[in-house]
Amino acid sequence: MRSVVGRTWTCVVMIALSAGVAVMAQQQWPVHDMERPVPAVVETGTMSAPAPRPSDAIALFDGKDLSLWQAVKGGGPAKWKVENGYVEVVKGTGDIVTTRGFGDCQFHVEWMAPAPAVGQEQDRGNSGVFFMGMYEVQVLDSYKSRTYADGQAAALYGQHPPLVNASRPPGEWQSYDIIFHAPRFEGDKVVRPARVTVLHNGVLVQDHAEMTGPTGHKSRPPYKPHADSLPIRLQDHAHPVRFRNIWIRELKAGSGS
Ligand code: MG
Repeated sequence: MRSVVGRTWTCVVMIALSAGVAVMAQQQWPVHDMERPVPAVVETGTMSAPAPRPSDAIALFDGKDLSLWQAVKGGGPAKWKVENGYVEVVKGTGDIVTTRGFGDCQFHVEWMAPAPAVGQEQDRGNSGVFFMGMYEVQVLDSYKSRTYADGQAAALYGQHPPLVNASRPPGEWQSYDIIFHAPRFEGDKVVRPARVTVLHNGVLVQDHAEMTGPTGHKSRPPYKPHADSLPIRLQDHAHPVRFRNIWIRELKAGSGS
C-alpha cells in the first residue's frame, strides 16, 4: 500500500514539475537575455547554385541592378555595390528599401557573411531583413559565434531565437525562405499580430512565430497601427554582407492566420 501511495505522489510531483516547465517555457524572457538557452547547431551542407525563382515571383534583385530599391537616407538611388551577381552593403550609405510596399508575402533571399570573419557577437556580419520596415529577421554571422539567443541569425530580433542554429560559415551562401503575415488592426487595436515562419538553409527555424510588435534594440515596442503594405528594408550595419537572388511572392490578403 505504501509503495502505491509513494508512486502516486511521485506521479503527482512529476506532473506538477512538467506543468511548471511548460509554464516557464511560455514565460517571456527579458530582451537580449544572455541566460536564454542557445539553440542547437544543425549542419546544412553547402549551396552550389542560386535557388530557382518561381514564375509568379517578383524579382526584387536578380543580380543586375537595384532599380526596385532606394536609399532610406534621402530617398535617392540605393548606393550599395552591385557586382558579380550580388549586392554588397556599403558601410555608411544607410539602409535600402523596396520602392513599393508589401504585406503578406513569401520572401526568398540568399546572403553571405564576410570572410574571414571580423568582430564578435553583434559586430560580426550583421544586417537584417525588415518586413514593413519594422519587423526584423536578423542576418548575422552566427557560425561558431555566440551572442544573445534572440539576436542571432534567423532570430526575430529581440523576440524569438531560431529553433536551431542552421548557420553556415562566413563566405558561404545561405538562404532564408520567409512567410510573413502582416498584423491586422481595427482602429487603434491589433486584432491579429504579425506571424513569421522562416527556413534557414532549408531548415525550419521560426514556426508561425507570433510577434509582440515591431522589433527593437534592447526593447520590445508595442504595435502601432500602420498600413497593410509597406516597403521591405535591408540593413546597413556597417558590415559588407552580400545578398543575391531576392524574390517575393505576394500572398492574398486573408490567407493564413
Ligand atoms: Mg541586424
